[in-house]
Amino acid sequence: MRKLIAGLHEFQTKYFSQHRDLFEQLSTEQHPRALFITCSDSRIDPNLLTQTEPGELFIIRNAGNIIPPYGATNGGEGAAVEYAVQVLGIRQIIVCGHSNCGAMKGLLQLGRLAEDMPLVYDWLKHAEATRRLIKENYQDYEGEELLNATIEENVLTQLENLRTYPVIHSKLHKGEINLYGWVYKIDTGGVFVYSMERCNIQAEHEVLV
Ligand SMILES: [Zn+2]
Repeated sequence: MRKLIAGLHEFQTKYFSQHRDLFEQLSTEQHPRALFITCSDSRIDPNLLTQTEPGELFIIRNAGNIIPPYGATNGGEGAAVEYAVQVLGIRQIIVCGHSNCGAMKGLLQLGRLAEDMPLVYDWLKHAEATRRLIKENYQDYEGEELLNATIEENVLTQLENLRTYPVIHSKLHKGEINLYGWVYKIDTGGVFVYSMERCNIQAEHEVLV
C-alpha cells in the first residue's frame, strides 16, 4: 500500500502538474476515442498499450473480457456499452483478450470452479458459446495451443455478443460503428488483430505491433 500512496504523491506533483490543461478540460467533459473492453488481469494496461492519455479510452474490464448478450443480465457491462455508444457517441469498440488468461483457463475446467468459485463459475456462463465452440471444434488441441484458441475464439464470441445490443446493431447497420478483436501477447508486447470476415482465426492473424 505504501507504494500506491507514494505513487499518488508523485502523480500529483509530477504528471498532474505537467498536464494541468488536459485535466482542466477533462474536469467537465469527456470525448473518448474508443470503448476498450478487456480482462481485469493486472498485466494489461490499456492506456500503456495504446499510448493514450486519460480521457481517450472508455474502459470496461472484467474477468475474461466478457460482454453478456443483451438481455442475459442487467449488469454493468450492458449499461456501460449503452452509455458509451448512446451518450458518448463512441464509434470504435475493441474487445482485447490476452495470452495466459486465467478466466479462459477456468473456462476450460469449468466443473472445478463450481464449488470453489461459484461467482466465477456463474460469470463464465456468459462465455458458454466459447466453451462449446472450443469443445466441438478444437478436439485436437491441448495445452497452450488450446488455451490460445480459447482466448481468441472468446474475443470473437464477445464481438458477437456486442452485436446483440440494439444500440450497436442499429449503428452497425448504418456503418456508424466499428468492432475490433484484439489479442495482446504479454510476452512479446504484440497485438493480433482479428479480421472481421469470420473464418479460421488462425489464418486471419495479423501482427499489428
Ligand atoms: Zn484474463
